[in-house]
Amino acid sequence: MRPDLFDIAHYGTNKGLRMCIATNGTLVTDEICAKMKEADIKMVSLSLDGSTAEIHDNFRQCEGAFDGVIRAAETLRRNGIKFLINSSFTKRNQNDIAGTFHLAKELGATAWYMFMIVPTGRGEEIMSELVDKDDYEDILAWHFEQEKNEDDILMRPTCAPHYYRVAPQMAKAQGVDYQRRSLSFSTGGGKGCIAAQSICLIDCFGNLKPCSYFHSSVGNIKQTPFKELWFNSKVFNELRDFSKYKGKCGECEFLNVCGGCRARADAVHGDYMAEEPFCNYIPMRTRKRLEQEAAQQG
Ligand code: SF4
Ligand code: SF4
Repeated sequence: MRPDLFDIAHYGTNKGLRMCIATNGTLVTDEICAKMKEADIKMVSLSLDGSTAEIHDNFRQCEGAFDGVIRAAETLRRNGIKFLINSSFTKRNQNDIAGTFHLAKELGATAWYMFMIVPTGRGEEIMSELVDKDDYEDILAWHFEQEKNEDDILMRPTCAPHYYRVAPQMAKAQGVDYQRRSLSFSTGGGKGCIAAQSICLIDCFGNLKPCSYFHSSVGNIKQTPFKELWFNSKVFNELRDFSKYKGKCGECEFLNVCGGCRARADAVHGDYMAEEPFCNYIPMRTRKRLEQEAAQQG
């Protein structure tokens, strides 16, 4: 752990920022909780990728990791510090999504964020681990069924932009009045992909990216002012310009609420403006175009 962690937290809090800490939980003790409170940490995020030690430790490839998270959740709860739980899923643990969600609730988490892994490279190993396109849709449908009846824990899928298509579609089909609850402590929640729109990433060297899953940076804030990069970078401006989106996403009636994952498009198609590879929806314009093309050929 960085020795100046809480100095940074104090600095941010004094600047009026909402400071949060992400941890694997192993170092969370009552003493650390006291320092978190002193620095006015607004939220702690823990990673929990399975409802049993076997599943979580296998996912993390670290024996004892599960016990560390459970202990941390109990310690934070005892000290009255709010925490949320992030859970990442691939084929390896996708059958335990419901179990992980229920454990997050039992532990007293304020929120549970289900995260479908975003590949950061095109390696075959990672690609073969990713949840299948059709399963993806089923998992998002499951999430909606949980969320629509949930009054307790806040929940949302992270970096699964097509949930912003699935949820309204399902609500409409079921005649349900579905209102997303506000997650006031974190960004997003109102739109699918928000890279370069309401978030970005500055790494520890000062490199700026649309989000943490993008390969390349658009510049370094130590050399170019942040404002200039944010407003003038080609990549950032393209991501905000929906007329430049390609493939099905470019034709989709849900584009402005979803947008597809640009990092996934980049990893799979080598083009961050290409269509989201893990969405099986056929937009109306695409359908019409395909019908017209088929009629012309026939
Ligand atoms: S086609 Fe693209 S914009 Fe439309 S719902 Fe799928 S991912 Fe979202
Ligand atoms: S590109 Fe968008 S949806 Fe994909 S990981 Fe980044 S912020 Fe999330």
